[in-house]
Amino acid sequence: MIAAGDLGLLDGFERALINGRLHMVYQPKISLSTGALKRVEALVRWDDPEIGAVSPSRFVPLAEKYGLIDELTQWGLRTTLRQWLAWQDEGIDTCLAFNISALSLDQLDFPDLVERMCRALGVPTEALVLELTEGATQPLVKLMDTLTRFRIKGIGLAIDDFGVGYSTLMQLRQLPFTELKIDRFFINDSTSSNESALIVKCIIELAHGLGLTVTAEGVETEAQLRLLCDLNCDVAQGYLISQPLAPTALKPWLAEWAKRWPDYAGRAPVAAA
Ligand code: C2E
Ligand code: CA
Ligand code: CA
Repeated sequence: MIAAGDLGLLDGFERALINGRLHMVYQPKISLSTGALKRVEALVRWDDPEIGAVSPSRFVPLAEKYGLIDELTQWGLRTTLRQWLAWQDEGIDTCLAFNISALSLDQLDFPDLVERMCRALGVPTEALVLELTEGATQPLVKLMDTLTRFRIKGIGLAIDDFGVGYSTLMQLRQLPFTELKIDRFFINDSTSSNESALIVKCIIELAHGLGLTVTAEGVETEAQLRLLCDLNCDVAQGYLISQPLAPTALKPWLAEWAKRWPDYAGRAPVAAA
């Protein structure tokens, strides 16, 4: 049964998905020690000719609710893997981060499916990191089994939006994540609130202690970037570095960023929290 409020948007989304009117954009993530491009995060976009741009925060939950999420995930992943090949042809060697709905993890053969898609297109599984937010309906033991299957195949796993949801330290210890992304709420606050800066510092130390790479998302100011460098954060992503980009914009951005990074890298770090 479709809720009345969802009807129009769901209908439009389904048509956009079927008729190839969705597209992906890619946001760079850079190393805070070298400034080099670490990977790009693929983000889906729907610009409807009648209703305008619709945020994925609106239509991804709708796709989850009405059984369209697997189709969206497979289309998005295939598009992203093909884009990786196109960048390789252009001489851009990068890795991919792709958002996975928790519901996809319930699909029994999902790790095999992802591996098959990589193999079929000739993309090494090591070039792919899946970003997961909480909400998995599987019990911990089953989730651990699913995630371990991804890791055996060489696929990386990031825990997304860390700090604002229900992810527990127990999950962090037991599940085979390779990367932790600190939610932008804490990054946003980190240069104006000592408490948030302290939380960021503690999350970085905790994650490093567990052997995880730490990414800060939502970096919008130079002060935030410098604080993160000072706190030994590994990777940064956010509007200061780059907005999500159309595929053809990645190469020009790389040239522009190579000129901008030395300015940031050369400046003295701010005091640690
Ligand atoms: P997310 O995975 O946490 O993605 C980061 C969101 O923050 C993106 O919003 C990005 O455009 C935005 N962002 C990046 N840098 C900054 C910044 O410096 N400041 C601010 N204020 N925002 C920034 P977007 O693209 O609207 O995506 C929203 C959410 O929708 C994503 O959150 C993700 O959970 C979901 N999503 C996006 N694409 C996909 C997809 O292909 N599949 C699935 N399952 N979910 C997706
Ligand atoms: Ca993400
Ligand atoms: Ca996030």
